Amino acid sequence: MPAESPVRPALPLRAELAGLHPYGAPQLDVPVLLNVNENPYPPSGAVVDDIAEAVRQAAGGLNRYPDRDFLGLRTDLVRYLLAESGVALAPEQLWAANGSNEVMLHLLQAFGGPGRVAVSFAPTYSMYPEYARDTATGWVVGRREHDFSLDAAHAVATIAEHQPSVVLLASPNNPTGTALPTATTLAVLDAAAQVPGGCVVVVDEAYGEFRRRGTPSALELLADHPHLAVARTMSKAFGLAGARVGYLAAAPQLVDALRVVRLPYHLSAVTQAVARAALAHSAELMAQVGSLRDERDALVEWLRGRGHEVADSDANFVLFGRFADRHAVWQGLLDRGVLIREVGPEGWLRVSVGTPAETAAFRAALDQVVGS
Ligand SMILES: *Cc1c(COP(=O)(O)O)cnc(C)c1O
Repeated sequence: MPAESPVRPALPLRAELAGLHPYGAPQLDVPVLLNVNENPYPPSGAVVDDIAEAVRQAAGGLNRYPDRDFLGLRTDLVRYLLAESGVALAPEQLWAANGSNEVMLHLLQAFGGPGRVAVSFAPTYSMYPEYARDTATGWVVGRREHDFSLDAAHAVATIAEHQPSVVLLASPNNPTGTALPTATTLAVLDAAAQVPGGCVVVVDEAYGEFRRRGTPSALELLADHPHLAVARTMSKAFGLAGARVGYLAAAPQLVDALRVVRLPYHLSAVTQAVARAALAHSAELMAQVGSLRDERDALVEWLRGRGHEVADSDANFVLFGRFADRHAVWQGLLDRGVLIREVGPEGWLRVSVGTPAETAAFRAALDQVVGS
């Protein structure tokens, strides 16, 4: 008998996934972590106690599947958005999932798909093309201007040319920090309304709470635009990245479409309990966001004072540059215990706003690396 030849069956990996690596910033053990735009402040003792108690109560019912429609959480989110932005919504207009990344994947599952196109404008969030890829949606990327603003005429022309079923706009944009003026969002909404078959405009406000005074939220446009979805998250301003809770607000019919594509019971009872316990403390959180905003503005001023180019920021991070060898600067900071992000157009780096002590460590390290 011939020796059995070892059978090594091939994995039927989709061709477009061949050779790809999972997305994600390096998770390094470094004293000063300013690389993924987290809130630098852990939940307060009072919040931790309430979360622990809520989880204890939820644990007693874990033999049962959770509330599939999480109406309690949606009602709490309505209350939060009213306080945060002054926009009154109904619970049927809210949707949530394990991070706004999952919310946006739901959007692409419902409104993208083979033969359809999603559009965004670069530089922007690097996960957007991944949602398109994973839902077999075509991907078209337009451009932002040199100051990272979005030219309304270019956006309208791109939509007219490619007739997308989904447009993804981050405002404030990651990695640039740039927020969209209402006039630009309205121009995109109008162009999308003219796409035969329809087009959903997603405004990703992951950093919405950090917007500067006078910068509008797209939540204000929901009443008149049934093809608008505004995504938010508890991962950034809310300081709850580890809990994985994101959400969106939209017309009830749009939310109903997402309910079709979600997996059953996608939001665990523990997640719902944690989110609701944290939302009960949102007033405390909003005060903290105010101090992070001040810290951000001071960091922008400091960087400009040092002669760096700095993008205007409505977020909790700052994009600055430009460096002939940005990797060397990134590495120099890392060697001094400060991790930032090498992301965005060539020559630029992104730093998250930390505690005053963390930001001071960043400033000292940067002065050492590039001279002052
Ligand atoms: C961080 C971020 C998100 C939020 O991700 P979660 O899944 O909610 O943690 C969404 N959009 C942008 C642009 C982001 O930077």
